[in-house]
Amino acid sequence: MSLIELSAFELVEGLKQGQFSAQEVNSSFADQVDLHDSKLKAFLRFDRQECLEQAAKIDSTGSKGNLAGIPIAVKDVICIEGQKTTCGSRMLEEFVAPYDATLISRLRKSDGVFLGKTNMDEFAMGSSTENSAFGRSCNPWHFGSVPGGSSGGAASCVAASLTPLSIGSDTGGSVRQPAAFCGVTGLKPTYGRVSRYGLIAFASSLDQIGFFARDARDVALILNESAGHDQRDSTSSREPVVDYLGSLGSDLSGLKIGLPIEYQSEGLSDEIQASVVEARRVLESLGAEVSEISLPMTQYGVAAYYLIASCEASGNLARYDGAHYGFRANCQEDQKSRSASSTPPDANRLLEMYCQTRSKGFGPEVKRRIMLGTYALSAGYYDAYYLQALKIRRLIQNELRETFTKVDLILGPTTPTPAYRIGEKSKDPLSMYLGDIYTVVANLAGIPAISFPAGFSTEKADQPAMPIGLQLQGPAFAEAELLKATWAFQNATDWHQRRPVLDGVVG
Ligand code: GLN
Repeated sequence: MSLIELSAFELVEGLKQGQFSAQEVNSSFADQVDLHDSKLKAFLRFDRQECLEQAAKIDSTGSKGNLAGIPIAVKDVICIEGQKTTCGSRMLEEFVAPYDATLISRLRKSDGVFLGKTNMDEFAMGSSTENSAFGRSCNPWHFGSVPGGSSGGAASCVAASLTPLSIGSDTGGSVRQPAAFCGVTGLKPTYGRVSRYGLIAFASSLDQIGFFARDARDVALILNESAGHDQRDSTSSREPVVDYLGSLGSDLSGLKIGLPIEYQSEGLSDEIQASVVEARRVLESLGAEVSEISLPMTQYGVAAYYLIASCEASGNLARYDGAHYGFRANCQEDQKSRSASSTPPDANRLLEMYCQTRSKGFGPEVKRRIMLGTYALSAGYYDAYYLQALKIRRLIQNELRETFTKVDLILGPTTPTPAYRIGEKSKDPLSMYLGDIYTVVANLAGIPAISFPAGFSTEKADQPAMPIGLQLQGPAFAEAELLKATWAFQNATDWHQRRPVLDGVVG
């Protein structure tokens, strides 16, 4: 069996037992990147040399960290000291992170190996990775389809066996939706469970770092090394961290799972609905009690999310003014072409610099969100939009709190449809936004949620069978329960073990 076929957990075991070295593991994955990434474009930067040097150091020092020698790909929204962190934007094209994110320092201590930085929608705004300023990534199951977004590169590289683990961020679904589209497992932990120090902010009340892997056990493995309070992130929680790996099991007796009737809404593909029904059967066979529940506030989630996320983004992205970070428009050039009779030169030059920097540095989707957010926060509109959205958010939170007194977890689809073709929705932002209907609720409520492979669509004339992902949501800090239920499901099914065929080579 080739090393790239092993899960992170199996690699850790094999490395401990000396069956292979960290250099062998990393060169196998690096070969896979070299072979396929020119087409997939999951990575924005991949440094074979650097990754093999990290692995060699682990071999020579006999490092014993819990992730010793395991390759990890990192979404380009998380800072690694001395490396470019572009956020998929021209604005940060030349930005080199001056420090490690707390998560990166923790994973360094666990002796993980950083393979490279993965592609994403600009500033994590999008659902297809088509908004990246550096070109789109592809879905390994069909190169003509999107991998999802915004962490499309991170999902795609796990699906294509370019790495066993990757890190993403999830503000409204950006880990779970691409995990569903690419046929991998993706967890968004509870708000505050993993430190965000060194994660470039999109919408601070919603952002959370999350993980991609083939299965729930691998997610538990990396979450064990990542979760916990960080004094550098005041929003990180002091709630004690559980041993997520140790909590896995296969008996779900007594677990109560709710199936919201509203999730079977118009727009949900029949095939995904059929997968929900089948997953219910599997979970029941494992001992879970599944019953129908009602979550009427769900339908307002997308509207509330896009207002709140855009309002917060308009504030967070105000810092990109050309004075502090990254890109700065060349205002001297612009100055020359202006007539001498305009406003006083200094003020004008500064304003010009801001305008030019922001209009050249940001792409269209980011500008759309900044304008929407600025408008919704402006005097006269604040009450009608932002305040209303906050009220809906509170109602969603209340509804979920109440629901979790009756059931332990909520099961449903991750997305209304499987991955669509590249270009199919890029001209229609609203239809793309509506695809987030099932994922945004967890961010609005701050609760953890996981997406796992649970079927395939049927082949179409212009698209092969594509993966289907389902979602489990739980109350705050129920990561262990989510991972346990998912792992039990994965022990009873083989959807998560299927791999795409890349250029005739099984990945
Ligand atoms: N698709 C959503 C958006 O475009 C979610 C993005 C995310 O989670 N970063 O905002």
